[in-house]
Amino acid sequence: MHMGYPAFMDPADQSFDAIYWNAMPDDLRDDLLAFIESYKKPAGEDLDGACYWFDWETRRCKHHQYRPRVCRDFEIDSKGCQDWRQHYADRIISHPA
Ligand code: SF4
Repeated sequence: MHMGYPAFMDPADQSFDAIYWNAMPDDLRDDLLAFIESYKKPAGEDLDGACYWFDWETRRCKHHQYRPRVCRDFEIDSKGCQDWRQHYADRIISHPA
């Protein structure tokens, strides 16, 4: 809810996730790259918005099979997950305007 787009999927990122980047179909990779290249971070202390691949209707990842490593490692409802939710509870948007 606060990443903007799939983490470590920017080829310019030092921690670039090449394995899952290369696994994507070309059209999906091109679409994501265009989004990343035009992405503008929110000003000041505002969090990035929901991940570009997050589907607000189903509340699921639109491209789950191509999600990056960090998403695979982050266990839903784990202590880390709950800690993040609690820490950002007042700043995470529930739905775009
Ligand atoms: S699981 Fe999918 S929607 Fe969620 S942060 Fe990762 S790439 Fe984005």
